[in-house]
Amino acid sequence: MPVDSVSIEGLSFAYQGNQVLRDITCDIRQGDYVGIVGHNGSGKSTLIRCILGLNRIEHGRISLLGVPQPAFTAWDRIGFLPQGLQLFNPNFPATVEEIVRLGRLSKKRFPRRFHVSDSEAVERALVLMGISSLGKRLIGELSGGLRQRALLARALVNEPEILILDEPTTALDPDTREHFYSTVRDLNVNRGTTILLVTHDASTIGLYASKLLYLDKRILFYGTFEEFCCSPNMTQVFGHHGQHLICRRH
Ligand code: ADP
Repeated sequence: MPVDSVSIEGLSFAYQGNQVLRDITCDIRQGDYVGIVGHNGSGKSTLIRCILGLNRIEHGRISLLGVPQPAFTAWDRIGFLPQGLQLFNPNFPATVEEIVRLGRLSKKRFPRRFHVSDSEAVERALVLMGISSLGKRLIGELSGGLRQRALLARALVNEPEILILDEPTTALDPDTREHFYSTVRDLNVNRGTTILLVTHDASTIGLYASKLLYLDKRILFYGTFEEFCCSPNMTQVFGHHGQHLICRRH
């Protein structure tokens, strides 16, 4: 039987008594592309932080790739691109290659040394992102779109089974955003990478995700896009724009 990529059961979470997640239960299967939507403050990033073990869970359980999260150590099997466009001073003294290579550290124990296999993995990730010619460039010199591709290359350098993206395209122009999303879709389709994508970009998520998780502290909807389109929650999330999305998708 295939193992779920992420399994969440009865998860509740509060920051200093302020409850942000309530009784979240859902299974994300291998190869799913889940768009996580909801208004500002609905708990999307908090959920991601709980999945990644960055928030200590007191109520509920999370399993990653079949392993209960407290015992999970294979973090190199999960790629993460955090929220927003990371800003770098133009003179920040690290090249694209060096930034991507940092993604290999999660595979290593002390003493952390890089080997030929690390350089090969970096090269593969740069090729995959179409930026192999930029390896020696300083990260701070790149445009926003290219920088985001470099950071995605870092998230992908271990060829993770799960890729988690938190609002990755907020600062990108529409063309760069579209390119970014089609790259992520190719990973999902061609490699079977499970994708969890937090976004405000409703018009795009409808085109790419296979499932939607609609959050407002608790889960208001979780299921396929087609099921969502037939549900009363659709207009709450997308308004009348939702109908337009369905037309574009089919
Ligand atoms: P979203 O990603 O949906 O915008 P968040 O998960 O970032 O929502 O935030 C959910 C709620 O938790 C918000 O009210 C936010 O102010 C609060 N919050 C987020 N991070 C912290 C934190 N580190 N400490 C206290 N409150 C926080």
